[in-house]
Amino acid sequence: MNREAIIVGAGFGGATLALRLAQAGARPLILERGPWWERAPGAARDADPVAFPRGLSGALARGLRSIWWARSGPARQIMLRPRALFEWHAFSHLDVLTSSGVGGGSLVYTGIIERPSPDLFDAFPPEIGARDMDPWFERARAWLDPAPPPADAPRARRFDAAAAHLGLEGRAPDLAISWGDPSPGPGSLKPCVGCGQCVVGCRHGARGSLDLTLIPEALRLGATLRPMCEVEAIGRSADRWIVRYLDRRTGQRLQVQAPRLILAAGALGTVRLLMAARDRHRALPALPRTLGQRFFTNGDAAALMLSLTPDERGPSVTRIASDAAGFLAEFSAPLGALGLTAPALRRLVRISGIAAMGRDQGGSLTFDGRGLHTALSPASDGLHERQEARLRAMIAALSPGLAASTRTRLASVHPLGGAAMASTPERGVVDHRGEVFGHKGLFVADAAALPQAPGVPPVWTIAALAERQAALMIEAER
Ligand SMILES: Cc1cc2nc3c(=O)[nH]c(=O)nc-3n(C[C@H](O)[C@H](O)[C@H](O)COP(=O)(O)OP(=O)(O)OC[C@H]3O[C@@H](n4cnc5c(N)ncnc54)[C@H](O)[C@@H]3O)c2cc1C
Ligand code: SF4
Repeated sequence: MNREAIIVGAGFGGATLALRLAQAGARPLILERGPWWERAPGAARDADPVAFPRGLSGALARGLRSIWWARSGPARQIMLRPRALFEWHAFSHLDVLTSSGVGGGSLVYTGIIERPSPDLFDAFPPEIGARDMDPWFERARAWLDPAPPPADAPRARRFDAAAAHLGLEGRAPDLAISWGDPSPGPGSLKPCVGCGQCVVGCRHGARGSLDLTLIPEALRLGATLRPMCEVEAIGRSADRWIVRYLDRRTGQRLQVQAPRLILAAGALGTVRLLMAARDRHRALPALPRTLGQRFFTNGDAAALMLSLTPDERGPSVTRIASDAAGFLAEFSAPLGALGLTAPALRRLVRISGIAAMGRDQGGSLTFDGRGLHTALSPASDGLHERQEARLRAMIAALSPGLAASTRTRLASVHPLGGAAMASTPERGVVDHRGEVFGHKGLFVADAAALPQAPGVPPVWTIAALAERQAALMIEAER
């Protein structure tokens, strides 16, 4: 196959494409804006590992990378520290948190691996039916390698009793975390120690983050990774895609080109790059007008509580429940891990609560020449009110007397869509293979391509679609 391909972003979509293309004999170049975190195997090639943020000093030094401020007036990026873990997108009525680094969202995710209900695929082009996806879900499951956590009786009992008030049955989630004995091979996972710090990076090598799994293997097979390299613009010259990026280690602005360009910068990153190419740089003026439409928050909502539970251990999430109305998960983490409390209280105080997800109707992303905006708000979708009611019922059952507040803003860690998969450019931006309509060789391979919110944690769906996309790309070159 053609050996040249550029992949923007080393998260779920990007890492899957990188590995499969490298296995097929290509030599993809991955440009990732963030660093290698901790001591991941493969990091030695480009020794630049950064310690995950812990405690107050860690949170200040390596917590927040940048803020995309779009509450009012023109959007602007406030860059704080390029070597930091999180990015905050502050829209007018919505806050979104995403992560940065080799591994993308896998660096901070709680590891829940959940398959969406089959009717999600009714929103996809006809080539992708629910049953057609079986082999791709299985293929992704093989490397996500999830397993349920060991039973934690008190947490399970509390959550299950609260879920029963909604007529739901609590169950253990499948988590991409290792529970067993350490295995001998390089890069193999170590057993989880139950520190509960999953959402600020696993320091114990126990979670199957992509920097420990797919990416080292892709590098071994011939892929190249440039960390701290942020793509600023994309364009086209004859039959080659041109990518301009800033190497944040040297401050140099550089350019690379290839016949194939795969955007996997996360939903917001990918849509922003495409919109800038169409509306700011006018390099790709014919990109579909549907760009930015069908943007979703995955119906995210959460209720938080503080509790004094010094003896509690375990991963961030140990219990879930779901029905047609949505998905619920309990979570718990030591507050000290988030750098929010004095040392004496760090181990005592935990932040815990319930996260809810569901299929929101979504809205649009727009671009003002610098950054993205969205008008999505709690009022724009009836789902939010229903989620709040469920959360209030759960919290009332968990802690009688504690009222969950009704929020005036949305918050999401699962931004999805904006470059939706569809049958025609009138309905979406990419076809069933993830190729942008009318732009041969330009692909979207991340959460941006979803035409509807799964309403459950989305990683398995994103990975399965990327597996299918990689196989079709390789097949087309044979
Ligand atoms: C705290 C938290 C917990 C979560 N828990 C779960 C869970 O348990 N289960 C689940 O299914 N999902 C979970 N998610 C969501 C999940 O992480 C995302 O849905 C998933 O990572 C999206 O995959 P992606 O390939 O679209 O993008 P990402 O994995 O976000 O990867 C995008 C990559 O592109 C890079 N990038 C962005 N812009 C540029 C640029 N201009 N140049 C170069 N590189 C760029 C980013 O740094 C990033 O590494 C969680 C998310 C968060 C924040
Ligand atoms: S609980 Fe601790 S050791 Fe286990 S996966 Fe989460 S961060 Fe890693």
